[in-house]
Amino acid sequence: MNEKGSKCIGVCKADRHGRITKLQREFWGQGWIFKDWNAFQKHRDSPCYVPELSDIVYTGNDFMDLCDRQEEIAACLFCEVDCQSPTALRHEWEINREVCTCDQCGKMFLSYDVHQCPHCGCSITE
Ligand SMILES: [Zn+2]
Repeated sequence: MNEKGSKCIGVCKADRHGRITKLQREFWGQGWIFKDWNAFQKHRDSPCYVPELSDIVYTGNDFMDLCDRQEEIAACLFCEVDCQSPTALRHEWEINREVCTCDQCGKMFLSYDVHQCPHCGCSITE
């Protein structure tokens, strides 16, 4: 593990159908998971995350799909996920209003301390 982006927790290999062929979790954050920063950044169709309680492999593309194909939000979700599924974390964000979907343009955005939609510029009313 180093600081230059090649950080990886555990080992996970999957075949091209997304089935796990090898999985070794390591303890990180709050649980036993697999998380590969390099794969997330550079290989969007490779395994980059496996949550603690289910053997579901997530790829960078899965994170992108959960985040309206928006790089910034997907990167944020990948950073913060630490043992739950990214779907659960994204849902938590919605409940806590950390992400919103704009009423006007229908796009998702990170809403912490934001008063205007970054996509269409309309103001956000609580
Ligand atoms: Zn908008």
